[in-house]
Amino acid sequence: MYIILFGPPGVGKGTQAKILSEKYNIPHISTGDILREAIANKTELGLRAREIMDAGKLVSDDIMIEIMKETLASPKCANGFILDGYPRTIFQAEELDKIFSELGISNGFIIYIDVKDEEIIRRLSNRRNCKNCGSLYNLLYDKINNRCPKCGANDSIYQREDDKEEVIKKRLAIYKESTLPIKDYYQKKSHLISINGNGDINKITEKILEVINRPMNQSM
Ligand code: AMP
Repeated sequence: MYIILFGPPGVGKGTQAKILSEKYNIPHISTGDILREAIANKTELGLRAREIMDAGKLVSDDIMIEIMKETLASPKCANGFILDGYPRTIFQAEELDKIFSELGISNGFIIYIDVKDEEIIRRLSNRRNCKNCGSLYNLLYDKINNRCPKCGANDSIYQREDDKEEVIKKRLAIYKESTLPIKDYYQKKSHLISINGNGDINKITEKILEVINRPMNQSM
């Protein structure tokens, strides 16, 4: 199963990708997570990406395409994967088509999730992460203090620099300029499945599963 989840930041791609990854037992490939791990490990990539990410800008296509080539060709992706956060530019989408044809992937689902800007700002500005185990929380729904309920680490809950309101607004502007045109690209090229991302997480998963289970929706 090959799934590309596409949509604005904060729409719930990561949450849905995690659920689908467990259900289908295929890896959740989040380019944001790959970059954050590089930053945590202080690798050369991490050092280059940090400032760009904190400012809410996009890391260069060259770097991202290299990461994708390497990741998607790795054995863990041999039976499928869920992409979250890639592609983010038309060029990345074109290069992804090439990677897919090199890997012989010709079927899959391109799922576009969308919600209004105000809801994105509300969700992202309330998002919190655990430094220790990577768990995601949201102050809108989760009762948390500084201790991570999942791993128990103290003082591990923090707000991503790019989840601060001013940076969120910048990310949304960049999304509209650079990433949204991909919707048109996929719509012209193949079938795009659009899902309304408002409401309950489980309901949105149900909607995704419903379209995945309709074979005519295979998109690539
Ligand atoms: P995310 O966790 O998907 O919201 O990504 C966090 C940040 O990582 C983005 O705001 C970008 O700075 C960077 N990033 C992640 N994926 C990409 C990509 N495909 N192309 C360029 N930059 C990316």
